[in-house]
Amino acid sequence: MVDWRKLKKIDAHIHILPDAVHEANPDADDVWVHADLTQYLAKMEAFHIEKAVIMPFNDPWLMSMEFTIDAVHRNLAALKQQYPGRFFAFADVDPRNAPEESVKALGRAIDRCGLDGIKLHPTNTGISADDECNQAIYAFAQQRDLPVAIHSYPHTADDPDAAARILRVLEQYPKLRVIVSHMGAFQWEALLPTRAYVDFSAILPHFLRSYGFAKTEDILHRFGADRLIFATDYPDSRILQPGEIYPSYLDALSRMDFTRQETEKIAYGNIEKLLHR
Ligand SMILES: [Zn+2]
Repeated sequence: MVDWRKLKKIDAHIHILPDAVHEANPDADDVWVHADLTQYLAKMEAFHIEKAVIMPFNDPWLMSMEFTIDAVHRNLAALKQQYPGRFFAFADVDPRNAPEESVKALGRAIDRCGLDGIKLHPTNTGISADDECNQAIYAFAQQRDLPVAIHSYPHTADDPDAAARILRVLEQYPKLRVIVSHMGAFQWEALLPTRAYVDFSAILPHFLRSYGFAKTEDILHRFGADRLIFATDYPDSRILQPGEIYPSYLDALSRMDFTRQETEKIAYGNIEKLLHR
């Protein structure tokens, strides 16, 4: 077993809000006050997180004070540039835009802003993962070999982020590289026979609470070290305070029976491979 606190890691799913958004909301007292670059760098030092992937929300009001997709992408690029080599960022989609417009904005985000993948959040947009509106985005990502992270924390089989919808996307786009964020939550079993990568951001503490340690470890083993991606969703959690997230993840993972080689894939190797196309 490996000590995850000392292990070199990439957190593949975190949130940082630009300073302008923090400054515009000085009275905020929710978890998002922790989504701050300086505070996060201290966490990286404390927990040996070498790099992190900043995820947008498919909601331009959260990531900029100028509510356009290009402003969001510029802000994400600026966060990356402040600490070169420490951060990656996935490009955003604004559901108010037509699909062709979104694809053009994604092209600019990748080619001009240097962003690293695409995030789709079916719950925030209300647009189902397998909706017609997303087809042009998947086709673009597949053609450009860009990883697409799809939020999936569904409650019912019909939810926009339901695992069954992601299965359809995987069938339609056989070469698309998909990261299912939050592992499809309690619909994880549907994802087992697929090729999708799964990040256990937000869901790991929820599995531990609902299933206990042994079953959670078994679920991770069933996906296997080649498909698992270390990620937390810091500072967001349905269960933990922001300060509890890293200790809770790292202590649970340190108790799991993975070899050193498997652990390195989960902590670092799998996401690194997806990011360096
Ligand atoms: Zn998130």
